[in-house]
Amino acid sequence: MVKETKYYDILGVSPTATPAELKKAYRKLALKYHPDKNPDAGDKFKQISQAYEVLADEKKRELYDKGGEDALKEGGMGGKFSSPMDLFDMFFSGGSRGGRDKRGKNLVHPLRVTLDDMYNGKTAKLALTKNVICSSCDGVGGKPGSVQRCNTCKGSGVEIHIQRLGPGMVQQFQSRCSECNGQGEKFREKDRCKSCMGKKVSREKKVLEVIVEKGMKDGQKITFYGEGDQEPGIEPGDVIFVLEEQEHSKYKRKGSDLLMTMEIDLVESLCGFKRTITTLDKRTLLIVSHPGDVIKHGDVKVVLNEGMPHYKNIDINGRLIIEFKVKFPKKNFMTQKSQFEKLEKLLPPRPTRDDNITDDVDEVDLENINPKEERARNRYMQSYEDDDEMGGGQRTVQCQTQ
Ligand SMILES: [Zn+2]
Ligand SMILES: [Zn+2]
Repeated sequence: MVKETKYYDILGVSPTATPAELKKAYRKLALKYHPDKNPDAGDKFKQISQAYEVLADEKKRELYDKGGEDALKEGGMGGKFSSPMDLFDMFFSGGSRGGRDKRGKNLVHPLRVTLDDMYNGKTAKLALTKNVICSSCDGVGGKPGSVQRCNTCKGSGVEIHIQRLGPGMVQQFQSRCSECNGQGEKFREKDRCKSCMGKKVSREKKVLEVIVEKGMKDGQKITFYGEGDQEPGIEPGDVIFVLEEQEHSKYKRKGSDLLMTMEIDLVESLCGFKRTITTLDKRTLLIVSHPGDVIKHGDVKVVLNEGMPHYKNIDINGRLIIEFKVKFPKKNFMTQKSQFEKLEKLLPPRPTRDDNITDDVDEVDLENINPKEERARNRYMQSYEDDDEMGGGQRTVQCQTQ
């Protein structure tokens, strides 16, 4: 679902059009309505250009689909269209190069954030160094009008090398022109810009204010449109921060819920308890279990509205999910027979079982399992089974029965 279809209508495509379909539509219409060919078409050529410029750019298209032209204006992309002629030239000069290809690279940085930051929101100031158009020469690289085509590469920026491999066999390869550093043009020493040494750009430090909003998630992107490296004639790419959620010592996040485990003693499980926990915004919650509530080992309870805030809807929080671990008393925590009798009287009565205990039953002891020995035993059993498999074709039989 898109909000407006105006730009799609102008290009005569459906809102589900692929980039290739958009290119094809633009090519056809731009040629048809080019002012040289069709001087009476009014601003049709301009409309086609603007529609294509928006739809050919993934981010602008997304913004337009969501909120129409108003969203583009709000996003600061409303009035900033390339000249229709420039777009046309770009599109056709580069063969298959469409409007998108003239953008610089996006710079992607991971940004480590704690769960506390995602709960409370945070503003981080990050400094990065980037290429900006040289302000002394406005990106020309030297005195205006003094630019010369590079003779070595004839302005193409690449040098072509031919290597003879043998009789009648040559290999041709290209490299960036060393004379002009791939620029295709150069300046006489005295005309070259002193600030950028003819490079047209200079390195500059820029501080970006990254706002981590409440409820943002691991992997979520924060984009600074057009803050990538600048280069003359190229629309700078974006700087994108990708959030990387750090593990928290107490809470685990699952969507908008927070998970934690709470260890309680047997007496607390049976007779109730009051426990405080500190929330991610440093409030204190009092968790109360009343006597007789009986919380079993592995029980899961929730506290509503104490999970993570929902992104862009921070009035609603997820849940705080608490998994309980019940600590039983140590062996021989009491020893006297009378104590056990007292305790037994307080507990629900033993169930009557239909066990038939006669004189000829064998009484056996319950032994503890030693985890170390257990592992060694498993290894031994495993190797025994492996040997078995070598002998017969039991593997297939096992697989089928599983
Ligand atoms: Zn300069
Ligand atoms: Zn050159």
